[in-house]
Amino acid sequence: MYRRSWRSYVLRRNLVVVLFVSFVLVGALIGKLKLGEAADLAILLGWIGVYLAAGWWLTDWKCPRCGKVFGHRLWTQRCISCDLGKDEVEAVGRGK
Ligand SMILES: [Zn+2]
Repeated sequence: MYRRSWRSYVLRRNLVVVLFVSFVLVGALIGKLKLGEAADLAILLGWIGVYLAAGWWLTDWKCPRCGKVFGHRLWTQRCISCDLGKDEVEAVGRGK
């Protein structure tokens, strides 16, 4: 249970990181393509929407012990409901 939960968390966190990195790349690409202001803005707004959705998905991660939302912030280290630490989930999730 903890292991599956941790894998799910890592997947979500990596997605947010990948999106953040590619946001910089897309920004550089937009600057080179010179599609015009309207197209630039549309791509940027679309990207921000995708990024916010991924961020929301990450904060929607459920605590493996109490089954409630772990925390409303990406950097929450302990469950807001049962005080389970993220490092404890990680330790079990990695098979220690
Ligand atoms: Zn909890």
